[in-house]
Amino acid sequence: MSAMFEIIDASLRAFVEVDEGSDFPIQNLPYGIFSTADGGVRAGVALGAWVVDLHALDRAGLLPVAPEPALFGRHSLNAFAAAGRPTWRAVRARLAALLSGSDPRLRDDAALRSRALVPMDACTLHLPFEIASYTDFYSSEEHATNVGKLFRDPANALTPNWKHIPIGYNGRASSVVLSGQDFHRPMGQLPVAGGPPEWGPCRQLDFELETAFFVGTETRLGTRLSPDQATDHIFGMVLMNDWSARDIQRWEYVPLGPFQAKAFATSISPWVVTLDALAPFRVPAPEQDPAPLSYLREGDRHAYDIELTVELRPAAGDGTIITRSNFRHLYWTMAQQLAHHTSSGCNVRTGDLMGSGTISGPSRDALGCLLEMTENGKRPLSLPDGGTRAFLQDGDEIVIRGQARRGALRVGFGSVRGRVLPALP
Ligand code: CA
Repeated sequence: MSAMFEIIDASLRAFVEVDEGSDFPIQNLPYGIFSTADGGVRAGVALGAWVVDLHALDRAGLLPVAPEPALFGRHSLNAFAAAGRPTWRAVRARLAALLSGSDPRLRDDAALRSRALVPMDACTLHLPFEIASYTDFYSSEEHATNVGKLFRDPANALTPNWKHIPIGYNGRASSVVLSGQDFHRPMGQLPVAGGPPEWGPCRQLDFELETAFFVGTETRLGTRLSPDQATDHIFGMVLMNDWSARDIQRWEYVPLGPFQAKAFATSISPWVVTLDALAPFRVPAPEQDPAPLSYLREGDRHAYDIELTVELRPAAGDGTIITRSNFRHLYWTMAQQLAHHTSSGCNVRTGDLMGSGTISGPSRDALGCLLEMTENGKRPLSLPDGGTRAFLQDGDEIVIRGQARRGALRVGFGSVRGRVLPALP
């Protein structure tokens, strides 16, 4: 392994009760930013139905970080993430000890316990990072192939560069929103066959099932990372829905790529799951043929077995799972994406968000967006309430969930959700 991982033993139990089906057992400890009615905005970790207040633990002198500058009493995780992997690992190890009671200083201090353990349903969650930049990749071979068949040559669906380069583009950081924030259907230029475009509300609104990672430690302008070095710069992962306006996209993307079609909203889940928590779920990544150029070769190539589902909830009627995919299908790994991102000397900063690209799997029930599922609207989905969907309607909510499971061990992401509101006038 290029990095030593802080794996919390699967048999360890928290001293507070955690439901067996919870996404947040003591083996997970994902980081987020929260506030309560009577307290400021600060950092926490999720544990079952609790949020553990890291600022309270730090002020009590229980975390292995210098007291100044305070890393946890802030509106973002940026300062903590910038402190680097040795600090992340030390804090995680200490939290496991404090929350299991093997270090009794939290368990045996009733006053501190009542301050530091906050019921999650009393918390408002916030964006975990101040996001400097957002980059989205295009790393699923199945997705790129399916889209290529729809819009290009079915016999040569992948572009000639695709197996050599982790394709990506620089997206829009200002419109990344937290799960639960609804958004208006975008307005835009819509293509009209054989004529000039129309102005109007998007008619082909889609979701994209993605994950994303946050950059922890920055790089300097003019330096490059190898894939094996890149892993140490990845703080953790979230679920992401890269909402997409397909009709606007089709008209505007030539020749520079997506712009307004993906600029109106990108939703992420609130809890950042660390690579330490995911280490028990490492699996081989797909074999690459042809071998990539040397700057993209990995000494320790791996993926993570993370099950992903997409639920569509109409405004009226029951929700239904419309996709079951898995992070492990991705052809290009996060390490390769980050190595490629710095390959020109481009620097990355703490809090940069890097999307995986739509994650489609090999089967028809594992497709990561409606564009693929409905073949660009030609084969609408049937919903249990008798309705159909070629693309999203006003009032539709999309809920993406992710979990890694092995035996009784489960490390989850919670969910990212968002609802489509009617277009602005
Ligand atoms: Ca995308």
